[in-house]
Order: sequence, then structure tokens, then C-alpha cells
Amino acid sequence: MLNVKIFSLYPELFPGPLDIGLYKKARWKKIWSLETINIRDYSKDRHKTVDDTPYGGGSGMLLRADIIAEALDKNIKKKKKEKIIYLSPKGKKFDQSMAKKLSKLKNLNIICGHFEGIDQRVLETRNIEEVSLGDYVLSGGETASFVFLDAIIRLLPGVLGNKFSTQEESFEKHLLEYPQYTKPQKWGKKTPPEVLLSGDHAKIKGWRLAQSEVITRRLRPDLWEKYNKKFKK
Ligand code: SAH
Repeated sequence: MLNVKIFSLYPELFPGPLDIGLYKKARWKKIWSLETINIRDYSKDRHKTVDDTPYGGGSGMLLRADIIAEALDKNIKKKKKEKIIYLSPKGKKFDQSMAKKLSKLKNLNIICGHFEGIDQRVLETRNIEEVSLGDYVLSGGETASFVFLDAIIRLLPGVLGNKFSTQEESFEKHLLEYPQYTKPQKWGKKTPPEVLLSGDHAKIKGWRLAQSEVITRRLRPDLWEKYNKKFKK
């Protein structure tokens, strides 16, 4: 089971979009669990303040190190062993291979930042890894955490069942997925490529790989280069 803990100023947003369909079922089945920790509960004053102005000046507010640290320390038993991730534009860029690695963990602790982010000292003293969803800036880590967790949870064994395959998807082997078609067979003037109706599985596999290669080469030269290095020496 993957035990997820979210440290957030807006715990009421969870499980939110992660509480539908197969993901909800998977939580019932104890394939994953979710606990939210309200950072504000660890505030030190009666106004429930969690942030302050940055030293050296500049705009915006920062989440305080002492408050984040206490929230972590009170809620994570094995601090040395458990992975703690701070979702942050400065982090290592999230991708499918990182999702795969993280889907093998037992515990995943996620800090959702706000305002201008959090005091650097807590990142340094609590063995926190920074992970970014991409090169853009969001207003808070919550929306990032939905995307982040969505990608990880669907890789947990038993979540998608046999109905879906995660083996042949985009980014497997650094390739984008081939085009897919379903009924109706004739839609206006368009029909699916003949080969897909042929029943010849080897031929279909070959066609799909060729399509993946063409598409990846055209749309994502960066992936194409990785693919060539790894599989086409
Ligand atoms: N001042 C910071 C941005 C803070 S954005 C900077 O320039 O780097 C506020 C919060 O939103 C962050 O603390 C982080 O938790 C979240 N966030 C913003 N962009 C993100 C991204 N690309 N990936 C992951 N989290 C992000």
C-alpha cells in the first residue's frame, strides 16, 4: 500500500479529483491511502499565522521553517526513511520514469507550498526533495499534487486492472503513443487505417511502432534522441 500524506494550507481540497472511479475504489481496497495535515494547525499564534516577509526584502510572503518543520516532525514517524517531497518550480522535473520509481514506495509525504514558497532552512534540515511539474509557476502546490499523484497512483498494481495497459503508453521507451481508433468504423468519410482491421497482430505491432517513431521524431526531438541512444544503437 502507498501511504500518502499531504501537508497543505487547504486540506479540504483533498482527495478532490483523486476521489473518482478506479482511484476511489483503489483507496477502499487499501491500495493507497490519503491523510491530510493542515499546516495551519502548527501555527504558533492565535491568529494562526504561517508566513512572514522574506529577509532581504522583496515581494510576497514565505512559509515559516519552524511551522513546516513541526508539522513534518509530528506526523512522519521515520523521518530518515520516508520520502518527503516539496512540489516546487525549482525541483527536478517530474516525468514518467520518476512516477514509476515513486509508485514503488510505501510512504510518500508531499508539501504543498503557497505564496512565494518556503524558508530554505526546512528544505536543508529535513532531507526534502524538490520536484517540479514543469517550467511554469502555479499559485500553490495543491493542483500540482493532483497531477503528481494521479500519475503515480495509476501505476500501482491493481488500480487499473487488466482493462488498461500502462505498458504501451506514451513515454514507455521514450516514444509517444501511436494513433488509436474505435467504432464507428466509418465516420463521415474517414475509416481507420486498413492494417488495424486486418487481424494480423505482427503487422499491427509493426505499424504501431512505426507510427510511434514518426510522431516522436516529428513532435519531440528530445525524446527521439533518448530513444535512439537506448534502443537503436
Ligand atoms: N517564488 C517561487 C514560486 C512560488 S509558487 C519561485 O519563484 O520559485 C507557490 C507554490 O506553488 C510553491 O511553493 C509550490 O509548492 C507550488 N508550485 C508552483 N509552481 C510549481 C511547479 N511548476 N511545480 C510544482 N509546484 C509548483
